[in-house]
Amino acid sequence: MKAAVLYGKEELNIVTDFENPIMNESDVLIQSKYTGLCSTDRTLYRGYVPFKPPLIIGHEIAGVIKELGKSASGLEVGDHVIIPPVYPGCQNENCLACREGLTNRCKNSVFIGHGVNGGNAELISVPSRYTFKINDKVPLDEACIIPDAISTPFHALKSRSVPLHIIQNSSNSNKLFDYKSHWLNGKNVVVFGVGGVGGPTVNLAAKYFKAKNVVAVDVLDNKLKFAKDLGATYTVNSNTYFEENNIPIKEISGRDKAKAISGLARHISSNLAEDKFQVDCVLDCSGVPDTFPVAIETVSKNRVVIQVGWPPKPVREFLNQKIMDKYLTINGTWACPMNEMAENVKAVEDGIIDLDLLVTNKDYTLDRLENAIFDLEAGKILGRATINIK
Ligand SMILES: [Zn+2]
Ligand SMILES: [Zn+2]
Repeated sequence: MKAAVLYGKEELNIVTDFENPIMNESDVLIQSKYTGLCSTDRTLYRGYVPFKPPLIIGHEIAGVIKELGKSASGLEVGDHVIIPPVYPGCQNENCLACREGLTNRCKNSVFIGHGVNGGNAELISVPSRYTFKINDKVPLDEACIIPDAISTPFHALKSRSVPLHIIQNSSNSNKLFDYKSHWLNGKNVVVFGVGGVGGPTVNLAAKYFKAKNVVAVDVLDNKLKFAKDLGATYTVNSNTYFEENNIPIKEISGRDKAKAISGLARHISSNLAEDKFQVDCVLDCSGVPDTFPVAIETVSKNRVVIQVGWPPKPVREFLNQKIMDKYLTINGTWACPMNEMAENVKAVEDGIIDLDLLVTNKDYTLDRLENAIFDLEAGKILGRATINIK
């Protein structure tokens, strides 16, 4: 089959004779139609994270079922499907995380396009129970971003945003997580970083979880304009703030830096004066270590900060006193558990999530995957790019 194969660092070849995937009895064989381009693909390409070559990259996949294994169930040949990028490798949910319902954190997690071959190839084989059917009316060149770009912020907002004391003191805590009565409804949310994950986070928070206000923070004005299109009520360019206030943020440290950070945080929450500057949930999608202290400073007391974007290195000052004094819930998040995927797909099918806005580049084919990676690196892709496998 034709495939984009990484043979080593920066050695991405398009081959036409790659061996077809091996299909287990409970698998479905999927004709991969489109993949979403993620910065993880770039990270692998540049060799920033280890991998075992030869590797077919691509973990945001939409395709059509070509063949069913003997014991595959619930799907038919011709069905349009998406595949989660991370699914449990446990056979009987026998690891601790799986037993606790955290199928996204299974000890034996399978990482498509990293640990096993991914979707930038004509065919891929996946267990039928981790393959999710999607209505034909959702275009596959947009559906392919659901697996990661949509489902990761979906899980973060749905399941990681509620402060612990609210859950403890609720008589029906299930309602706090339900779409119709979700805790985020009518709340104020701040999103740092309007990139491949931050964009969908803004869109989901505003449109699906019905936050009252979504404040988007970035350093690029075109990203902030994009955030407005996606539903942000207010936008803040943090670089512009520092420039206008003559703060040389890259050159200062210690008390000066702490003062600058709290100034920026006040500037961000000043948009919410009508709500007594209340910030209920901050999502750091920036992938920049320096953002975390700003996030801690921006969030209101007794509320939640969620780390959504992977920072390339840890933060230096962890602000322990602030976290204690503000009684914060600091949540990590990771992909999306299997039991939330169906709700996620339904939100797309119902047209609540603006996939057509979020996918901004549809012109790449498999042969031009490397160019797509270069364009992503050069900041030429505003939202998400999708790759046509053909
Ligand atoms: Zn990804
Ligand atoms: Zn497991």
